[in-house]
Amino acid sequence: MDRFFVEKNNINLENNTCIIEGEDVKHISKVLRCKIGEKLEICDKENGEYIAEIIGIDKNTVNLNILEKVNINRESNLKVKLYQGLPKGPKMEMILQKLTEVGVDEIILVQTKRSVAKVDDKKEDKKFERWERIIYEAAKQSKRGKIPKLRGVLSFDEALEDMRHNDMNICPYENEKTTSIKKSIKNVSINNIGIFIGPEGGFAEEEIEKVQQIGANIVSLGHRILRTETASVISTSIVLYELSDLGGDE
Ligand code: SAM
Repeated sequence: MDRFFVEKNNINLENNTCIIEGEDVKHISKVLRCKIGEKLEICDKENGEYIAEIIGIDKNTVNLNILEKVNINRESNLKVKLYQGLPKGPKMEMILQKLTEVGVDEIILVQTKRSVAKVDDKKEDKKFERWERIIYEAAKQSKRGKIPKLRGVLSFDEALEDMRHNDMNICPYENEKTTSIKKSIKNVSINNIGIFIGPEGGFAEEEIEKVQQIGANIVSLGHRILRTETASVISTSIVLYELSDLGGDE
């Protein structure tokens, strides 16, 4: 069943109706060619989910009757904030899509010393629109209860300042020889965690020192060197598997 995110104020639980507006209307009527009587999954972007039946379709809106609430919690209790050293273009799309599927809460783009890609203001909006669309589509496909936030592009120091507000931060670094990610997160009780991944060229030594200075744990992901896009997804998955609901139980 196709899933759509609907603004919470477009869902009326008193009379069990809801309205879909915007881009999704064209997708429902022209691409999916849905008809009156067909059912859709509706999500209010705050982990509320319903089965609804189409009762009306016009150019700008789709009207539905809510049939039932779906009682499945699809969101992790642990909020993962992934700070991504800006990678080269095509990798970004894969990173955004896979992080959304595994359950990231927020993706923050960071211009680090060795980030090859430079996102300049002019084109930034266009890129951000595309990147947010990728997250939105991945959130629908993976039945997320909310749409992960995309922020940035932050400077390295702005990212460190942002990380200070997290309950915990880890920074995977391939030259780390003693602390593993596994050891670092074992039995911790936290509500949110920052994970800082370097771009293709990795972190500069002085960047690792600065990350350590804000109290982040520098951790190894093992003896194999992972690509930036692999390291982002693997780190997020390990954390959500060890501390939350990825893999089945919370
Ligand atoms: N210096 C790396 C190299 O020799 O190719 C380049 C960095 S790696 C491609 C990109 C990022 O992935 C790193 O900055 C780090 O955050 C993470 N990473 C990759 N492999 C890792 C490992 N074995 N342990 C910890 N972090 C790793």
